[in-house]
Amino acid sequence: MNSVYINGGKTYCFSSREELIDLAFAGKKSLIAVNAEKILHTTDKTRDLFIRNIGFSDGIGAVWALKKKGFKNAIKIPGCELWLDIIGASWHDKTFYLVGARQEVIEKTVATLQSEFPGIRIVNYRNGYLRNGLEYQDLINDIVLRKPDVVFVAMGSPRQEELIAQMQEAHTAVYMGLGGSFDVYAGAVKRAPDWWVRNNLEWAYRLMKQPSRITRQIHLVKFAWMLMTGRY
Ligand code: UDP
Repeated sequence: MNSVYINGGKTYCFSSREELIDLAFAGKKSLIAVNAEKILHTTDKTRDLFIRNIGFSDGIGAVWALKKKGFKNAIKIPGCELWLDIIGASWHDKTFYLVGARQEVIEKTVATLQSEFPGIRIVNYRNGYLRNGLEYQDLINDIVLRKPDVVFVAMGSPRQEELIAQMQEAHTAVYMGLGGSFDVYAGAVKRAPDWWVRNNLEWAYRLMKQPSRITRQIHLVKFAWMLMTGRY
């Protein structure tokens, strides 16, 4: 299997999404979306999670890094598409648990999944706004009780990765961090039109629509500079 270390975090280069999905189910591992921001902000905790699980190139910054390390065929695998590919490939025989986003968004997400995949077994779900330690404990207890095969966590980083690390200790499953993907799926946030996605300019579209993201997008520039100057 092709993988390299970027800032100490392991990232894989897959030839297809099927290959990635097969590997996740075979090893019951978690899928960690890698982008410039996460590479720059790797901590000992998230690095460990990356190493134990499957980092995939969700952002163009991660694709640049893989290419620089010799994987010329590296492609971007957007997390907001991958989670639906996972459901598409496995919904007939796997069970799912969803955590994340605002209450109305998670409810719409579940309802839309149930109409798109009739009979899908969503064993439970909850919004991503956990208020205290007790709510975290209740969630983990519920995961242990319901034993889902796949758990999607859409709470933004590093919050979702930290929660995944805790849940993994309590119950083995395929976990995936999804960022704002439920918002996109439920129609609360619009994804960039195809042209922007195809030309690897999704980040520019998001910046145009939400200028406040500049403080986050600047990481891509910083990361590109560090790559060019051989720091990664
Ligand atoms: N969110 C959440 N719990 C929180 C804070 C945020 O569930 O305590 C959700 C929020 O509603 C949104 C997502 O996490 O759906 C954040 O998406 P963002 O765009 O920041 O993530 P990215 O895709 O950029 O990683």
